[in-house]
Amino acid sequence: MSEENLSFIDQVRKRRTFAIISHPDAGKTTLTEKLLLYGGAIRSAGAVKSRRSQKYAVSDWMEIEKQRGISVTSSVLQFDYNGFCINILDTPGHQDFSEDTYRTLMAADSAVMVIDCSKGVEAQTKKLFQVCKMRGIPIFTFINKLDRAGRDPFELLSDIEEVLGIRSYPMNWPIGRDKDFKGVLNRQKNQFELFNDGNHGQSIAKAITGDLSDEKISDLLGQNLHEQLLNDIELLDIAGDDYNLDQILNGELTPVFFGSALTNFGVQPFLESFLNITTPPKPRASNLGPIHPETTNFSGFIFKIQANMNPTHRDRIAFLRICSGKFEKGMTVNHVQENKKVRLAQPQQFLAQDRMIVDTAYPGDIIGIHDPGIFKIGDTLCQDGSKLQYEGIPVFAPEHFAKIFTKNSLKRKQFLKGITQLSEEGSIQVYKRPNIGVEELIVGVVGVLQFEVLEYRLKNEYGVDIIIEKLPYRYIRWVEMDNFDQSTFSITMDTMIVEDEDEHPVLLFQNEWSIDQVKDRNKNALLKEISLRK
Ligand code: GDP
Repeated sequence: MSEENLSFIDQVRKRRTFAIISHPDAGKTTLTEKLLLYGGAIRSAGAVKSRRSQKYAVSDWMEIEKQRGISVTSSVLQFDYNGFCINILDTPGHQDFSEDTYRTLMAADSAVMVIDCSKGVEAQTKKLFQVCKMRGIPIFTFINKLDRAGRDPFELLSDIEEVLGIRSYPMNWPIGRDKDFKGVLNRQKNQFELFNDGNHGQSIAKAITGDLSDEKISDLLGQNLHEQLLNDIELLDIAGDDYNLDQILNGELTPVFFGSALTNFGVQPFLESFLNITTPPKPRASNLGPIHPETTNFSGFIFKIQANMNPTHRDRIAFLRICSGKFEKGMTVNHVQENKKVRLAQPQQFLAQDRMIVDTAYPGDIIGIHDPGIFKIGDTLCQDGSKLQYEGIPVFAPEHFAKIFTKNSLKRKQFLKGITQLSEEGSIQVYKRPNIGVEELIVGVVGVLQFEVLEYRLKNEYGVDIIIEKLPYRYIRWVEMDNFDQSTFSITMDTMIVEDEDEHPVLLFQNEWSIDQVKDRNKNALLKEISLRK
């Protein structure tokens, strides 16, 4: 992917790194695949198979994903388009694996939010949106499935504004709906783009474009559609928000695109507009102040670790987001948290199931590095001997808890090894009860299916059978206070005090009432929903 004639600065400036987020089934996988199609990274769409037929998408990896037809892990897809180098951080579709998505959003410079036009903003979109909001990254909206009956576009815009609390600016407007969906009006160019069927979405949709004032549009659309379009646009111009680039880049205004990922209508205009608005990598906060991506010293942080991704490559990969400087294969870097030198010998990039060895990579890129068990999520790697550390990656609150044991006590060593590795990957959180003589582990996960993955992986990768005893807790809070003392800290009967892996006091609650009670009884303690990884 490297073009030697481009300077380092040009390479940085052509990078666009983003994640696509959505509630399951809104069309994220389909849109991702269509972006690959337009980028020439795949020749024909259709690798995304119906979940019902138990087949799997281009970005699915693990056996369990194939078996259940869901996407458990995130992958990174890179391709070139119109002089841009695009990195799409693909994220798991199933909400039970959303912690992985939360973390992936830490490595993205912007997000594309896909919404199903018949459903509007759904629960999972809302949660993922909050994470984007917390980071202040630009959020683009793609309202999908316009080829089917859906809600009124104006109603969908109000939904976004009311449920998510973000203003919106429609970049284009649908011409016709449902079976009559013919294309979109590009508001900034005042140009219509009518599509014909790209072979049921398998190939690129060709567009007829023209000016809105062009007389032929009335013939092409028919009088009714034409009038509806003119009325809609008038209303938007009067009542809608103005286009404001600063607000978009600060994540305060979302540009909205209408389209159909399945039939490719509106995909290309979306991609082009999106690429023009979104920015190359920006400076990132660190303990030494913001680090500019165009700084020549190499640096990056690990946002995801995954063991044994593919049965044919049984290994562990750490995903590194490059933040500054040029990466070169074989370079030796400083692993800041461990204060050690590490040689990055076999860095990889990903396109679905293929892995490629990369020679060079630039800020905005994600590379996979072989991890012999030394990295943790949030670790910084940098070139010079400085003590640069990027801001930690938050630990998002698990919502399900269980005690786990191994069925065979002789396998205890493998059991602990597996648990430690899975916890380092961030897919489970491990807690202990302080001062409890019997050894027991409490595991917290964001979605219940993660227990299944835990059981499956411990059996398949470590040969350990486990018993999972579910606990009734639903909420977690990290306690911030001076001199925490379990014997004097007042909790309700149904609350449990545990310690996280950093031996930090943590409370597990069954209901929100207890959280309020505990807050009331311990006024000098702060109960936090998100904690930072050490
Ligand atoms: P994800 O769970 O968000 O990744 O959703 P998928 O991309 O797997 O899509 C879910 C279902 O919606 C699949 O059956 C797709 O074929 C279908 N779908 C996706 N985009 C469209 C679209 O634009 N129009 C229609 N009619 N169906 C779509």
